[in-house]
Amino acid sequence: MTSHQNHGADHAPPVHSHSHGRRSSTEDMLSVEQAYERVMASFQALEAEEKPLLDCIGQVLAEDIHSPLALPPLANSGMDGYALRQIDIAGASQEKAKHLKVIGVVAAGQMPDKAVAPGTAIRIMTGAPVPDGADTVVPFEETDEIQRKREGKPLDQVAIYADMPVGCNVRPSGEDVTLGELVLEKGTVVRAAEIGVIASLGLAKVKVIRRPVVAVLATGDELETAGAPLSGGKIYDANSMSVAAAVLASGGIPKLMGIARDNLDDLNGKLEATAGADMIVTSAGVSKGDYDIVKDVLNQRGEMNFWSVRMRPAKPLAFGHLDGDGGKAIPLLGLPGNPVSAMVAFEMFARPAIRTMLGKDSVARPVVEGVLTGSIHNEDGRRVYARVEVELKDGKYHATPTGPQGSNILTSMSKANGLAICPEDLPSKNAGETVQIIMLDWNEEVQI
Ligand code: AMP
Ligand code: MG
Repeated sequence: MTSHQNHGADHAPPVHSHSHGRRSSTEDMLSVEQAYERVMASFQALEAEEKPLLDCIGQVLAEDIHSPLALPPLANSGMDGYALRQIDIAGASQEKAKHLKVIGVVAAGQMPDKAVAPGTAIRIMTGAPVPDGADTVVPFEETDEIQRKREGKPLDQVAIYADMPVGCNVRPSGEDVTLGELVLEKGTVVRAAEIGVIASLGLAKVKVIRRPVVAVLATGDELETAGAPLSGGKIYDANSMSVAAAVLASGGIPKLMGIARDNLDDLNGKLEATAGADMIVTSAGVSKGDYDIVKDVLNQRGEMNFWSVRMRPAKPLAFGHLDGDGGKAIPLLGLPGNPVSAMVAFEMFARPAIRTMLGKDSVARPVVEGVLTGSIHNEDGRRVYARVEVELKDGKYHATPTGPQGSNILTSMSKANGLAICPEDLPSKNAGETVQIIMLDWNEEVQI
């Protein structure tokens, strides 16, 4: 149930010491924070694009939106009822009804053809403009409307059974938005409510920061694509799909580059095809036991760094820039090959990079405190991110490890909705102890 069982390709040195974090093997590693800073220094918000409103869901406004009109444009009725002069119904009650002459009717979408004169009323539907002269709307429920209809009486008169304050049930022009008002600020995330607000202003298109295109490239001679038969020694490529899905869920546009084999020609060809992407995310080929060809090719094609990050899973990480067209360098994040390592490294480094390119203010997942129900072991002074299922019970979050924590055990990632942290300087976090938990299923972006 712990990371003892399987280190996958994390290549953790065997540890017999308890001096966590003080061995030379960890000294040349970058902390998660150092790696994060170095990665994030390469990203900034992308440029704006103008798109049909509905396509902007989840994106960030690249312009202030001032209203071209008042909302509502005209004073209108908040109820189905009678538009009248309040002075005409002052003191009305069930016993002392006020009787008015009904001179017309106005529905939503129409303009009244008459003004309300003293002693008269106009039947009015919800959303219909309030006629001149009227200052108040009395709902049908406070009149003899229903009774008259039931008795088949003409609706040319009405008895009002209640007094109401001036302006009651009248929604004034500009009540929600005034002409020229700053309705939504640049930097606002467009959600369903913002789409509604912008639509109510009559705007069909809006400027948002565009989504980054993220080229996703798996590497490895052992990889086979889903749907094809599996011959000896091969495994199906999980990372292309999990990474592409994570790109989508983060708000990016994945561009699947397929599988690069561990040879110069293939890898070079696949990398050339990434031209135009805002970021390249590769998997595998960055750990020690690999064919050095991946590192060689990346080094030849740009400025690359190969790091060991003091975390488990996902110790091996590559980051740098590939030379692109016209001298434009494309940031490349090389995730480890083990499927859980790839996903965790994506969470820690790629998702914040994508959200930064999207112009989001908040790029990190929410972190909560919770109580561990099992233990997390830290054998070698790295920060451990344990896959846990988080449940809210009795007002507290409880985190239960989802099973074997080897970096190849992808099903335990699927069962998890959080990553519980054992800090690098502690040998373990045990049942009953409080831990920080990164909530993986909070703050998902809407993606169409
Ligand atoms: P590597 O970093 O190339 O040493 O790969 C580490 C481990 O991850 C190996 O067991 C690989 O077979 C596995 N692996 C690499 N790429 C993928 C992938 N796309 N899908 C599933 N497993 C992978
Ligand atoms: Mg490999």
